Amino acid sequence: MACEIKNYLEFVVDEAVDNFFKSTKDICKCEQCKLDITALVLNRMPARYIVTAKGRIMTKLKETEIQFQVDVLREIIIAAEIVRKNPRHTNG
Ligand SMILES: [Zn+2]
Repeated sequence: MACEIKNYLEFVVDEAVDNFFKSTKDICKCEQCKLDITALVLNRMPARYIVTAKGRIMTKLKETEIQFQVDVLREIIIAAEIVRKNPRHTNG
């Protein structure tokens, strides 16, 4: 079976940022700010590489790592605050 290496952190952060944007009103939701927040979180947290069957969806791992999700959300809140104070969307 074909396998591949994925950064599990990217998968979790992508989804968590989506959820954060849906549930938070007081935030700029342009693509620039969203990607800036995602990049900040990915830079602040250690990568988590996993070997997975190609194309498999990583939902099982997701459910077992509640503490990891809490850590990711905490970093998103910090990153959102940094981006809110220094948005890059105004000057391109
Ligand atoms: Zn923005």
